[in-house]
Amino acid sequence: MPRYVRFATDEGPRYGVLEQTEVAVISPHPFAAHSPTGERVPVQGLVLLAPVIPSKIVCVGRNYRDHAAELGGEVPDEPLFFLKPSSSVIGPGDPIRLPVDLSSEVHHEAELAVVIGALLQRVAPEQALAGILGYTAANDVTARDLQRREDQWFRGKGFDTFCPLGPAIATDLDPGDLRIRCSVDGEVRQDGSTADLVWNVAELVSEISQVTTLLPSDVILTGTPAGVGPIVAGQKVRVEVEGVGVLENPVVDRAVDAMPVS
Ligand code: ZN
Repeated sequence: MPRYVRFATDEGPRYGVLEQTEVAVISPHPFAAHSPTGERVPVQGLVLLAPVIPSKIVCVGRNYRDHAAELGGEVPDEPLFFLKPSSSVIGPGDPIRLPVDLSSEVHHEAELAVVIGALLQRVAPEQALAGILGYTAANDVTARDLQRREDQWFRGKGFDTFCPLGPAIATDLDPGDLRIRCSVDGEVRQDGSTADLVWNVAELVSEISQVTTLLPSDVILTGTPAGVGPIVAGQKVRVEVEGVGVLENPVVDRAVDAMPVS
């Protein structure tokens, strides 16, 4: 089953299927009927992009008991959903830019990300997995100090660059027991398994689809295991999801000056 990647070319982003040392280019993209173009490009030297630009990113908080406990809370009776803006998405190797003028405590959160492949409205858990294209790795970067002061987590979760995704969309994965690890400059911070999800992938997709229509390319972040902690400029954060691959991003301070209008 294919592992899809999205990569930069002179003509703009394109999709392909990862095959050993090459990518077999497809057109137009994996969210519709598509076919190989016959072009093959070497993986070496390829600039991988976020594998999807979602129309929305739905996330769940406190979906691992050990992580809920480390934040000093219980697992809630119902899933605790929130949104991240699609403008927070970055790809493998792109810098996470810390908003140093607004937050002094930014954390990593390694997560399994679900990539939706169909239009889903009010589906039962038993139907949910059939509507998933595949899975990728995510870092639900969080300004913890702002999050603690907010009931709605728009600022704590929503800054530009706060949603690294990638490197590939793995389509042939059983999400029931995947190892999820995060390391910072080689030091292991998180090491969990999706077997410990309080609400599993099928239940999350079903619950979200009771509220909003899930569209092809939408992304669901399934929560983070214990071990979240601060990241600072100069570090490299590495999220690894079994069967997906490694998502690594450097951390920098964002410029404090306002950006020009472009
Ligand atoms: Zn999270």
